[in-house]
Amino acid sequence: MDSDKRVVIIGAGIVGLAVALEVLRRFPSASVVVLEKESCVASHQTGHNSGVVHSGIYYKPGSLKAQLCVEGAEALLNFCDENEVPYERCGKVIVATAENELPRLEELFRRGQGNGLRGLRLLSTGEIQEIEPHAAGIRGIHIPGTAIVDFRRVTQRYAELILNQGGAIRLKNEVTGLKRFGQSTTLETTDGSLSSRLVINCAGLHSDRVKRMANDTRDLAIVPFRGEYYKISHEKEYLVKGLIYPVPDPQFPFLGVHFTKRIGGGVEAGPNAVLALKREGYDKTSFKFRDVVEIAAFPGFWKVASRHWQMSVGEYYRSWSKNAFARALQRLLPELSADDLVPGGSGVRAQAVDLNGKLIDDFHITFSEGIVNVLNVPSPAATASLAIARYIVDRIVLDMDTSFQH
Ligand SMILES: Cc1cc2nc3c(=O)[nH]c(=O)nc-3n(C[C@H](O)[C@H](O)[C@H](O)COP(=O)(O)OP(=O)(O)OC[C@H]3O[C@@H](n4cnc5c(N)ncnc54)[C@H](O)[C@@H]3O)c2cc1C
Repeated sequence: MDSDKRVVIIGAGIVGLAVALEVLRRFPSASVVVLEKESCVASHQTGHNSGVVHSGIYYKPGSLKAQLCVEGAEALLNFCDENEVPYERCGKVIVATAENELPRLEELFRRGQGNGLRGLRLLSTGEIQEIEPHAAGIRGIHIPGTAIVDFRRVTQRYAELILNQGGAIRLKNEVTGLKRFGQSTTLETTDGSLSSRLVINCAGLHSDRVKRMANDTRDLAIVPFRGEYYKISHEKEYLVKGLIYPVPDPQFPFLGVHFTKRIGGGVEAGPNAVLALKREGYDKTSFKFRDVVEIAAFPGFWKVASRHWQMSVGEYYRSWSKNAFARALQRLLPELSADDLVPGGSGVRAQAVDLNGKLIDDFHITFSEGIVNVLNVPSPAATASLAIARYIVDRIVLDMDTSFQH
């Protein structure tokens, strides 16, 4: 195949596959190849998340997250309808449990209105308990449109459609090098090399490494934050009807431990956010020397660590102490006890940090000749995947010489 018409996407998570699908939809004559180092799609963040189709209440109006989450949630649920992927609009309540959280709760309500969310309602304690009879809270917000879905299943459906439309997904194919020659990029992989006019880096937890393979500067680093879950024991699942969330701390891009009904059954509690000592480290004891050294060598990491060390200590404590984890959850659900929690799974978030030690909050995607780097697409990127894909392909059409179109 003529490498001028080839688009290579690195990473078969939900974002990489949504992009592949959108390229095929817009340029049916393009040859789309997805390279994935694991033996199946959705192996990392996409297969280890909370399964919530976020509504867009958290994000600053005008930000990419706000725009693409709202658009993406609608597109995703339409996709699920058309492709018979099950989901449930179970709705969500965000509850303030202390007076000092009220201004932030009101700010979230304003953001939700600014982002055009329908059916939002401010709740009194009594109204919270009409929706979630066992939840605590002095005030709350009800977001009726929030849904739950299995993102692994959505991604598998994206993969089937890509293959049906002539795209290729090459598994166990890790990209190890990128070299630009004239208008083409040669990719070295663990299964040979190939060339392409356009490369789209959707490598999640490794997206900063892939960016540097092309001799790009190290202006940001991916810092992995593990999120650990408990499950609520079967007998106590009745305590949660849908989704119960706290008011998040605006200093952090994480939402705080919460309760999530799962589409496949059961209720999860979590996730926390602890610094992971391995990029794909799903256990408390996971450690990889190269990953730790690389993070420690990035100046921005030490700035973020010095600013947020107190939060980190608290998160580590809750990670090792089930009682402490349970206490954080009891603020939302006082009837719950540590005995009602059984160990659940975990996921690792790819969170980009810049040289100044700022946790990059918004989605961050860069476009340069021949390569698009998708560098910060944490939650709600699974929700927003189809809208992120549209955004990227729109920019490719506008900004780049796209000979693969014809
Ligand atoms: C604990 C947790 C809870 C979350 N909850 C939600 C939620 O409820 N709702 C929501 O919308 N979002 C949620 N998210 C965020 C969401 O899961 C991610 O934003 C989304 O999955 C990112 O998708 P991705 O395709 O960018 O990354 P990934 O799914 O991580 O995919 C990247 C892929 O690239 C591959 N790869 C990496 N390097 C290479 C290489 N060199 N060569 C070839 N392949 C490579 C990896 O193997 C991987 O398969 C959550 C995330 C976590 C971790």
